[in-house]
Amino acid sequence: MLFSELGLSPEILRAIEEQGYSEPTPIQAKAIPLVLSGRDLLAAAQTGTGKTAAFMLPILERLKKFANTSVSPAMHPVRALVLSPTRELADQIGVNVKTYTKYLPLRATTVFGGMNMDPQTAELRRGVEVVIATPGRLLDHIQQKSIQLNKVEVLVLDEADRMLDMGFIQDIRKIMSMLPKERQTLLFSATFAPEIKRLAADFMKDPQTVEVARQNATNEQVEQLVYSVDAGRKRYLLSHLIKQRDMSQVIVFCKTKLSADQLARDLKRDGLVAEAIHGDKAQASRLEILSAFKEGSLRVLVATDVAARGLDISELPFVVNYELPNSPEDYVHRIGRTGRAGASGVAISLMSPAETRQHEAIEKLTRQTLTPQTVAGFEPGAAAPREESAPRRERDRDGGREHGRSTTRAPLRETQRDPMSVPASALMAGKSGEGLKTIKPAGSSRRSRKAQREVPALLLPPRYKVEVSR
Ligand code: AMP
Repeated sequence: MLFSELGLSPEILRAIEEQGYSEPTPIQAKAIPLVLSGRDLLAAAQTGTGKTAAFMLPILERLKKFANTSVSPAMHPVRALVLSPTRELADQIGVNVKTYTKYLPLRATTVFGGMNMDPQTAELRRGVEVVIATPGRLLDHIQQKSIQLNKVEVLVLDEADRMLDMGFIQDIRKIMSMLPKERQTLLFSATFAPEIKRLAADFMKDPQTVEVARQNATNEQVEQLVYSVDAGRKRYLLSHLIKQRDMSQVIVFCKTKLSADQLARDLKRDGLVAEAIHGDKAQASRLEILSAFKEGSLRVLVATDVAARGLDISELPFVVNYELPNSPEDYVHRIGRTGRAGASGVAISLMSPAETRQHEAIEKLTRQTLTPQTVAGFEPGAAAPREESAPRRERDRDGGREHGRSTTRAPLRETQRDPMSVPASALMAGKSGEGLKTIKPAGSSRRSRKAQREVPALLLPPRYKVEVSR
């Protein structure tokens, strides 16, 4: 099929041709005619399937009749609103829209938190047809009366499942109640969880359902490898794999902001160019890190699930799950970062003996067997090779924070918790100057508490002590 067969105008066809889109992806082939017809759409599409163009191209086609070059704000009311769970996804959609509107006098802007509101307000007041927003910041603008939504004809809820996961449901319902009843609603989600269906039932009119991949399926173009390794040696195995496989651009997923920061520091010590990206970083710094990663000057991007959502890095060759996610859906999203738009990729998961439950949940959800393998020299329970130990002066310089083991210390037991897997909330519970803080592992029973013992202090961030059960 050709794009020209889908009913798009020459201005749009020219813009996407310049982007190198030669033929529509399956979601585009199915969704574009439906959206053009004005129907509501409930679409299950994985990341990397081309879903942004699947909704944005027909929206622009529908708004083309309003395109004008007038300077009057009244001539540019908001006609399409796209809600995104994260700032990065909003930014990415905004970048795509700018390229798609290259030959159309339609205005688009993004509004998201973490940035000064004033430039956003100025842009909204100037008049803009397409607004891409995160829910919280949009509500701020609504409250400030810098945006009017009474002319909205199309609403898109992108990555709706993630918006619900992130607790945006009340914000979304509030925003939807402010929009004209007569409108088109397009909902994109990786999965059709029951809450998504409820949202669709409450706010959509007889939606057409489009599914381009099996629900919860992982991309078949992605080679998936699972390596068994002790938690305390993951970092060394990761450095080894990055160097051995010559990974020039890799995204590494961690469960918490704390472990992402720690891992990025550790990788830097191993001589790799690495940065962490997560919600605690200022927006400007997140965008800077992202652009360094995209242009290739940053080799390793360590990310949390939330921060990585919506990152559009095409043809990313490698994704690493440094820690297996608690929710198997996150595994699907994570590895969706590679093998995008038809490219192949490799997803590597590092699994410690304590992560078998997460591994099983992933196998169950994705309906596949992911047999764990080992890497020579990094087998669980094997002694650490000498070169793994960090020089003592480096550990000393770091105030004893080094998480690696020295060759003189006994290897971590399987039952010991990897300090990096301690939830951030637990570590944050300690207060400065309190001395050692005792943190109990989640779900520790009375019986196991008796057998608790301490992790050597050198393995922990200063001021914290963790009790673990054998
Ligand atoms: P998305 O799923 O919207 O995040 O898109 C993933 C990537 O695929 C983006 O880099 C798009 O620019 C790219 N893309 C979208 N549609 C096409 C297409 N028809 N042909 C080639 N690349 C595409």
